[in-house]
This record gives sequence, C-alpha cells and structure tokens, in this order.
Amino acid sequence: MKLARLDNCPEIFHTLQGEGVSVGKAAVFVRTSRCNLHCRWCDTDYTWNFKGTPWEHDRGIKHDKAACTFEISPASLVERLATYPCRHIVLTGGEPLLQQEELLEAIRSLRQLDPEWTFEVETNGTRIPDPAFEAVISQFNVSPKLAHSGMDAALRIVPAALTHFARNPKAWFKFVASSNADIEEIEALAQAHQIPASRIVLMPEGRTSQDLDRHSAELAARVLEKGWRFSDRLHVRLWGDRRGV
Ligand code: SF4
Repeated sequence: MKLARLDNCPEIFHTLQGEGVSVGKAAVFVRTSRCNLHCRWCDTDYTWNFKGTPWEHDRGIKHDKAACTFEISPASLVERLATYPCRHIVLTGGEPLLQQEELLEAIRSLRQLDPEWTFEVETNGTRIPDPAFEAVISQFNVSPKLAHSGMDAALRIVPAALTHFARNPKAWFKFVASSNADIEEIEALAQAHQIPASRIVLMPEGRTSQDLDRHSAELAARVLEKGWRFSDRLHVRLWGDRRGV
C-alpha cells in the first residue's frame, strides 16, 4: 500500500485529533498517499500533485512521486502501529478509501493482537466503503468538498456516496467554512442528501490561531442558528501547518 513519506519514513504520528467530534482524543494518524480529487488549496498535495500531472494547485509546485511515497505492506504497517502506546488510529490521506483492501487487512491483524483497537477514517465522501471495511470503522469524518476547492461538482459530489454516509450514524460531516456562500452550499447539500443537522460540524478557515479567532464568532452564530455543531481546529492552534504532529 502507499503511504505518504516524511523524513524517509511513512507518515505515521501520535498526536491529538485536531478537529471534528473527537477533537482532543489521542490517536495515531496514518497518512495514506493518493487522492481521487485535486483541491486547489489542499494542504496534503504531496499525496497526489506529482510532476507530470495536469492538476492545478495554489502553491504552484509539483512533487516528486517516489520521494513522497512510502510503499509498505499491511503486515509492516501493523508492526509499526503496534509500537505506539495508543489504540486509536485515524486513517487519513489523501483519500484512504482508495486503499480499503490493504487497510482492512491491517485492521484485522491489529484486532487479532488486541480487540481494543478502534479506527476512524477521514474521507472526502466520494466513495462508498465496502461493507466489510465499514463494519470495522467506528467513525467516518466525511468532508465533502465545496465549490472553492476548484473541483467540478460532478467529481466532488457523488450523491449515492453522500446519501449512504447520511444514513450511517457512524458518519459525521465536517466542513471548513469562511463565507455565507459556503454556508448556503452546505445547507443545499444537507437538504439534497438528507444529512441530519445534528451530524454537521463546522470549522473556521485558517492556518493560524489569529485566522481561526477572526472567523470563529461569526461561524458559531451560524452554527447555533442551523442546529449544527462547531469545532475548533486544535492542531492549527498547537502546531500551525507543520507536518507529522
Ligand atoms: S479531497 Fe482532501 S486530500 Fe484530496 S485533494 Fe481534496 S483536500 Fe486534498
């Protein structure tokens, strides 16, 4: 399977979940490489924006595919994860649902070592998980991409997948919002795909604490009005946009 590479190792790190309904929870993050979308502001563009590809990104740089990819077998991933003093894993990316088969193999092996392992998945909500994979995941953080991602709606919005997650009580929908247009778009998505208001989480846009502070009060007011949930972005406050923490 393909993980992101950081300092010649797979990008795996023990940290606190920074956003969404499990914000503050200790977890080991596993960053998979590759994504089926190409958002123009993506902060993990080193998982997909490789030299020779036509995708546009705000940073305007292309990454070396081999230098940014760490090939690892499910068995080796299990060995590495078993060394951490934490039994909660967050599978993130890129888009982890592109590698469900290998991840499921690793999850099953970890559960054989200790049935207490739990797994959370960060996804862009364009793929329906395989039933066997879905069964072993305790939480999906679904983050559908809005128009400001620069992606065609036909690629970023997959109605069958969104409706599937909307029906799954393990799925929470999280959005970074910075404008009224974003709020209206989220509302339209929720209506079109029957996403329960109680499972929509809004977060302020920003790469620094100052940015978050600037947008939070207004966003909190909108969240109250809509019956949604607000999440701060702890990782931005603690570490800014540093990788691997
Ligand atoms: S879906 Fe997520 S990982 Fe993929 S390009 Fe968009 S922001 Fe990046």
